[in-house]
Amino acid sequence: MTSCEVINPATEEVLRTVEFVDVEGVDDAVARAASAQRTWARLAPADRAAALRSFAAVVDAHIDELAALEVANSGHPIGNAEWEAGHVRDVLQYYAAAPERLSGKQIPVAGGLDVTFNEPLGVVGVITPWNFPMTIAAWGFAPALAAGNAVVLKPAEWTPLTSVRLGELAVEAGLPEGLLSVLPGRGSVVGERFVTHPAVRKVVFTGSTATGTRVMAGAAAQVKRVTLELGGKSANIVFDDCDLEKAAATAPYGVFDNAGQDCCARSRILVQRNVYDRFMELLEPAVKGVVVGDPASRDTEMGPLVSKAHWEKVSSFVPDDAPVAFRGEAPAGRGYWFAPTVLTAQRADRAFTEEIFGPVVTVLPFDDEADAIAIANDTAYGLSGSIWTDNLSRALRVSRAVEAGNLSVNSHSSVRYTTPFGGFKQSGLGRELGPDAPLSFTETKNVFIAVAESIGENS
Ligand code: NDP
Repeated sequence: MTSCEVINPATEEVLRTVEFVDVEGVDDAVARAASAQRTWARLAPADRAAALRSFAAVVDAHIDELAALEVANSGHPIGNAEWEAGHVRDVLQYYAAAPERLSGKQIPVAGGLDVTFNEPLGVVGVITPWNFPMTIAAWGFAPALAAGNAVVLKPAEWTPLTSVRLGELAVEAGLPEGLLSVLPGRGSVVGERFVTHPAVRKVVFTGSTATGTRVMAGAAAQVKRVTLELGGKSANIVFDDCDLEKAAATAPYGVFDNAGQDCCARSRILVQRNVYDRFMELLEPAVKGVVVGDPASRDTEMGPLVSKAHWEKVSSFVPDDAPVAFRGEAPAGRGYWFAPTVLTAQRADRAFTEEIFGPVVTVLPFDDEADAIAIANDTAYGLSGSIWTDNLSRALRVSRAVEAGNLSVNSHSSVRYTTPFGGFKQSGLGRELGPDAPLSFTETKNVFIAVAESIGENS
């Protein structure tokens, strides 16, 4: 068994040492999960629903504690962290309605009755990244549990604390022991074992496209189900007929939220050429106004990057000769601080094509609607994006033409637990959230029952 020091990214202080689970530990947890799942799936739907509502209530009673842990472990501003903990509660509450609504179908056929059942898969492995540890975990475990599965959850090495606490709260809420096991450890050990363990019937993975590809390839060996939520390089398209002041004022929050460590970050701002100069004039004060600092302070809008290694990766996109238009402020001294940065990169530049996952945005002019769509789609990714225009027809035309799973018009909203979330192209496979998410944790079983034609026959 190995262990890992968890660091506060705002102070570089060690918060805690977390024991890592090894392969034998994963196998034990999967065996316990398989046993707990059989009991869980046999419970009356109303009892599973009640258990999930209890879990939501216990999370609600611990919002402050969970938020404080995320502030310390991930450097999220306190307001964001409270929202995230509240979101976990809401996701649990939303999917608590699912056990009583997974009703299958009755399909008209000749000679009898045909019904479908939504059978749980068994044990589901959820692998989460470090950018939104709590919320992304809940998007996996809540619908999976609601559909009658057990869950083994591997948090990212850098940010395990809130997930570990959620695992404890599940037990406190009365969920059967072993039904939701949180297993901190290395991706190459715990994550890989989820992929290779035959009793883990599905892997839900969120993280980089490179690792997601590896997970998918490994899962293929057992025809294991996967949901993948991967990277993004989303466009924020600003047309000349929009409310330019609002588009410029909100653009920093569409990319710098969570210090840009967001798969939905609108990290390519595309601006119609005839309003480009005016947009940049408006963007500069908006970027310089982003409050970067102590994540525990209620005034803070952006905290530090998650780790030293990640700080170095983000910094590599802003070398000394980078085309910096302007930058915001960030604290000096200890902590992995990075000032919001605006680049006027060219189309072929690495900063314009690669996912930076930090507070660095590129701005590029475009000529017309067709040009905007072509640039927006000129990427292997397809997760998210925004379209700013006051022309409804254009809004709909461009929304249909941009190859991305989550678009917003005149806003930067991506995630609501009631609506589906996921990516086109190399941004992922499958959808999370929304009313259908529990179905992706089930197999459809079709049963035909022959019905005798008259009372006399086999009655
Ligand atoms: P990874 O994709 O490597 O990590 C995501 C999760 O997968 C972590 O829990 C990680 O564990 C785990 N993992 C790593 N290797 C394996 C494996 N072989 N099998 C199964 N699970 C594995 O992302 P990084 O943390 O390395 O971040 C790299 C880049 O990926 C970022 O800079 C960003 O561009 C992108 N990214 C995108 C995210 C998104 O939301 N779409 C989220 C995070 C990153 P461990 O922590 O132990 O490495």
